[in-house]
Amino acid sequence: SDQKVDEMLRQINSDNVKFIRLQFNDILGIPKNVAIPVIQVEKALTEGIWIDGSSIEGFARIDESDMILKPDIDTYQILPWRSEETKVARFICDVYTYGNKPFDGDPRSVLRKNLDEAAKLGYTFNTGPELEFFVFKINEKGEATTEFVDHGGYFDLAPSDTAEDLRRDIVLALTDMGFEIEASHHEVADSQHEIDFKYGDALSVADKVITFKFATKTLALKSGMHATFMAKPIGLINGSGMHTHGSLSKDGKNVFFDPNAENQLSETMLYYIGGLIKHAKAIARLGNPTINSYKRLVPGYEAPVYITWSAANRSAMIRVPAARGNSTRAELRSPDPTCNPYLLFAAMIAAGLDGIKNKILPPPPTDVNIYHLSEEERKNRGIEMLPGSLIEANEELLKDKVICDALGPHIVENLTKIAIAENDAFRLAVHPWEVERYISKY
Ligand code: GLU
Ligand code: MG
Ligand code: MG
Repeated sequence: SDQKVDEMLRQINSDNVKFIRLQFNDILGIPKNVAIPVIQVEKALTEGIWIDGSSIEGFARIDESDMILKPDIDTYQILPWRSEETKVARFICDVYTYGNKPFDGDPRSVLRKNLDEAAKLGYTFNTGPELEFFVFKINEKGEATTEFVDHGGYFDLAPSDTAEDLRRDIVLALTDMGFEIEASHHEVADSQHEIDFKYGDALSVADKVITFKFATKTLALKSGMHATFMAKPIGLINGSGMHTHGSLSKDGKNVFFDPNAENQLSETMLYYIGGLIKHAKAIARLGNPTINSYKRLVPGYEAPVYITWSAANRSAMIRVPAARGNSTRAELRSPDPTCNPYLLFAAMIAAGLDGIKNKILPPPPTDVNIYHLSEEERKNRGIEMLPGSLIEANEELLKDKVICDALGPHIVENLTKIAIAENDAFRLAVHPWEVERYISKY
């Protein structure tokens, strides 16, 4: 509304902001932005700003490359690491076509559309992601290496944890940017960390995931280090996950909680889990979008391999944490932080709603360590595996009408092109492992 715009302009003025960044996301979930001087902001907030989208990944459509960025007023934030004299603020934008319609290649618009479907049934979809990342040294040439900056382990303290100061800087900056940080700690692997923030509605949380990643990378760089959200930067040690807790609420009440049901898990929650299990293979294309993602989904490193759920067991793909009441939720453990959170959350809610609408009950929970089951036992229990590669996951996506419909043809076509191109490029490279393995033997 005009009043909201006026208030915003006054705020920007009193914050003494000099530049505004208009941020949006490509199909990979990589943030893009254009900076405008503050005198342009009124125009941006009322009419939007035109951009040429033709060379943005997943946007390209030569015939309609002119697009409009429309800032979402609720996403106003000052970038806390910029100097006081040249204060910079950002807005996250929705992307519109020149015909003034939401652009179907804009991941944020895809998520909005799916959240609207949930809203029609009275549901708000809440997500709470746990982002893990590595911090590595930078070499003399300024390039990222895979050399550790510390040799700490799970929940370790300084002095082994030299990235502690960095983690504190990140927590402080994110807090300035409106995050409610719940915990931060050293993760299992050397140089690996995790910072958790409070769950919220899926759209604002997806925005936060993007902000989290670029704030972390920016602050690491300021301290002479490189932070990476790559899923498996180093073989034979833990990779980085983005476990995503999900729940539905109606009129502010968590509908996954039912005090009278078995384990106090409502029927709605079981159907949600049933939907996620049914569509897990297609969801992998969104939650695990790189060639490297599939090197994380192997046995032995706390990442899931089998499509199962459990109330107790961390080898399952979906874990139900012990908390009940308003905190009742399902933790999907398969995604990694290379994902585009908008597309992942869109696929999750579409899968969950399919489960709820069609009353899809999940198979019985797998409360044993799945890795201790024989192949035959797994078969008897009907336990299936997550896809083993990006190209396989993309094929699963193409077979899954519910998830394809949720994403729309523009996104699905572009994801397919990307999966094929990545796979081709990977096959053109000969990897050190192959040379080491075969050069003497044959
Ligand atoms: N790093 C593990 C993963 O790849 C998860 C460890 C944990 O449970 O926090 O998912
Ligand atoms: Mg963790
Ligand atoms: Mg977790």
